[in-house]
Amino acid sequence: MSILVYAESFEGKIKKQGKEAVAYAAAMGDATALVLGTADESELSALGKLGVSKVLHVNDERLNAQDSKAYTKAIAEVANQINAEVIVMSFNSTGKAVAPRLSARLKAGLVSGASDLPDTSDGFVVKKGSFSGKGFAFYKITTDKKIITINPNSFPVKEEEGSASVEAVSVDLADSDFGIKVVSRDLVKGGIPLPEAELVVSAGRGLKGPENWGMIEEMAEILGAATACSRPVSDVDWRPHHEHVGQTGITISPNLYIAVAISGAIQHLAGVSSSKTIVVINNDSEAPFFKHADYGIVGDAFEVVPKLNEALKKFKESNN
Ligand SMILES: Cc1cc2nc3c(=O)[nH]c(=O)nc-3n(C[C@H](O)[C@H](O)[C@H](O)COP(=O)(O)OP(=O)(O)OC[C@H]3O[C@@H](n4cnc5c(N)ncnc54)[C@H](O)[C@@H]3O)c2cc1C
Repeated sequence: MSILVYAESFEGKIKKQGKEAVAYAAAMGDATALVLGTADESELSALGKLGVSKVLHVNDERLNAQDSKAYTKAIAEVANQINAEVIVMSFNSTGKAVAPRLSARLKAGLVSGASDLPDTSDGFVVKKGSFSGKGFAFYKITTDKKIITINPNSFPVKEEEGSASVEAVSVDLADSDFGIKVVSRDLVKGGIPLPEAELVVSAGRGLKGPENWGMIEEMAEILGAATACSRPVSDVDWRPHHEHVGQTGITISPNLYIAVAISGAIQHLAGVSSSKTIVVINNDSEAPFFKHADYGIVGDAFEVVPKLNEALKKFKESNN
């Protein structure tokens, strides 16, 4: 089985989700990684530590902007060049935009948001969460070419000794293959990027106003976590939109999701229910979120969170 995995990069470095996709593909079989845009040479060969022996690099700086039209053409061309039967990508904003286009172009069956390696004992069956994370579904892909996008944090990245051979490949990209032009970029400074975070501290409308987020940021800092919020919070500009998780926001699967003063509406759960461990802090013992929590604290966030922060600080100090 010939496997091509897209290793997503940003500013020359392979992203954590790109590494997860590479590790996933390598666990499936003999996989070749593909990197688009300018990238550090050491980053490319280091993908060998994740189990691939070959990295193909399309070194075209026009691909530094995430243009799904151009990415689709580039990935499809390389997939055809190596006769790839399976293409693996991350289920993030790039994968969500590119994989369906790729599926149409290559006439390949697509399963988005896989949470486990495919089962090939009887065909090619991919497991993914369904019904907003309340259950699992198993999809059999029956087309010759197959595409899988994998959920962030659903596959561990374990680096071993090894390096990969790096080969430059060219694809036929005209300027007309690019559908967007980046005019300016406003990068979020500091903090841990939410889609990559293994620990997330999140808060909702129960916090009453943006001035009360200091204790949430403090908890995130102590834990080394990213911060998130419910949609109404970002709708009223208490927090930036890139922090909004849920059906209409970012989907995350961290190892730990701490939800403070969030009710647990179905649209919120849609984006967080595949978190490995969920801790809920809410003053209403009937809040729906408690039904989905692994640990719950019924109490006033303004009392509980500062006490928890103190305890976490002490714990950290005594373990340093
Ligand atoms: C089409 C559609 C898409 C949507 N997409 C999303 C989405 O992507 N993400 C999302 O989050 N929502 C989404 N929503 C909105 C969603 O339905 C809920 O309205 C929203 O999640 C509620 O946010 P919340 O829990 O922060 O606020 P609330 O529902 O107001 O809940 C606040 C909670 O805080 C608790 N609380 C209050 N005071 C305290 C205190 N002092 N201490 C502790 N707890 C306290 C309350 O008991 C309550 O449970 C969507 C809605 C629609 C219709």
